[in-house]
Amino acid sequence: MAEVIDLHRRAGAQQKEQREQAQRRAGAVAAALSCGLCPRRCAHCGLAIEDVPAAASLAPYPFCGPCLEEYLAYQRRQQGQTQPEAYWHSQAWVEMWRAWLAHMRAGEQFRRSPEFLRLMAENQD
Ligand SMILES: [Zn+2]
Repeated sequence: MAEVIDLHRRAGAQQKEQREQAQRRAGAVAAALSCGLCPRRCAHCGLAIEDVPAAASLAPYPFCGPCLEEYLAYQRRQQGQTQPEAYWHSQAWVEMWRAWLAHMRAGEQFRRSPEFLRLMAENQD
């Protein structure tokens, strides 16, 4: 009989641990994605934006000056410019920008999903 009670206690403790782990994961997802883009912080490198670049309206995200230049160079490359503007504008650099922009779009899409909105509602403090 004592063994049965012990098994029940162990199963209960295991379920409690699983619930707490799920709660921590939900909290981490909510915390990581709850913050939208800060207009005074570069979306690409994270540095504070002191002066908003003049061409900022050409970009979908807030960028510092150098990151905006890199983004615009990537756009020119996508529009058919074949001559790299800098030696690091390799195929890997193109792929990095493509993947980063896809990552940003995926985050926006997830933040608008009903599942994420529910997660946020359940994790509000
Ligand atoms: Zn930057």
